[in-house]
Amino acid sequence: MEKLSDELKAKMESVEYNYAVIEENISEAAEKSGRKRDDIIFLAATKTVSSEVINHAVGCGLKYIGENRVQELLSKYDEYDLSRCDLQFIGHLQTNKVRQIIDKVSLIQSVGGEKLAREIARQAKAHNKIMDVLIEVNIGREENKSGVMPEQLEELLYNASQIDGICVKGLMAIPPICTEKSQICKYFENMHRIFIDISSKTIDNISMDYLSMGMSDDYSEAIECGANMVRVGSALFGKRIYK
Ligand SMILES: *Cc1c(COP(=O)(O)O)cnc(C)c1O
Repeated sequence: MEKLSDELKAKMESVEYNYAVIEENISEAAEKSGRKRDDIIFLAATKTVSSEVINHAVGCGLKYIGENRVQELLSKYDEYDLSRCDLQFIGHLQTNKVRQIIDKVSLIQSVGGEKLAREIARQAKAHNKIMDVLIEVNIGREENKSGVMPEQLEELLYNASQIDGICVKGLMAIPPICTEKSQICKYFENMHRIFIDISSKTIDNISMDYLSMGMSDDYSEAIECGANMVRVGSALFGKRIYK
């Protein structure tokens, strides 16, 4: 028992330290790109992290958390400190699982097709709500990745704008793994260009409030390229331990 609590204490301290470092980096990157700290949303990707540790980060000031597995979200749901933070879904979502999270999250970040959009809308309406979503773009055109291909984005947005029960609030992307920073920046810049282009089109019922991209290794670069939401996991919580 003694050992465990020491371990947990060390974990909490490292989360506090990491949180401060990330905050500092976000401020710096925001400034570099002509914005303020408050223009950027810092969302913590909380997969594999215990609710105790998540809530400790919330105590540090963290306001947004994102889960990417339905089962895990449900198992931790009663323990999140949701009076102080906002819970989102950021992972791949199967249509048959939408029902389980529709009343639990404020935003579903990972909508890559019309079928999923329609199911979210259907479930949202059953709960008398409108679900905010982001459209996930497969910016690296990777075969085994979810998200809409860039050239099909506009059509999906027009179709989504007609669906009652959802409201598109922006775009999200997970670029391919890159060894060079300059490489990943190309994807971020490309996403930002698309984001600006869509914003200028003013499609009914669609707003481009959020551009969600950038993770632990590259959130500063993402912000400098125009992201206003970053999803950071291991840089905050340490290396993930999968059970
Ligand atoms: C896990 C995860 C992240 C964060 O990954 P890190 O590299 O640990 O920061 C971001 N986005 C999604 C969708 C994730 O599943």
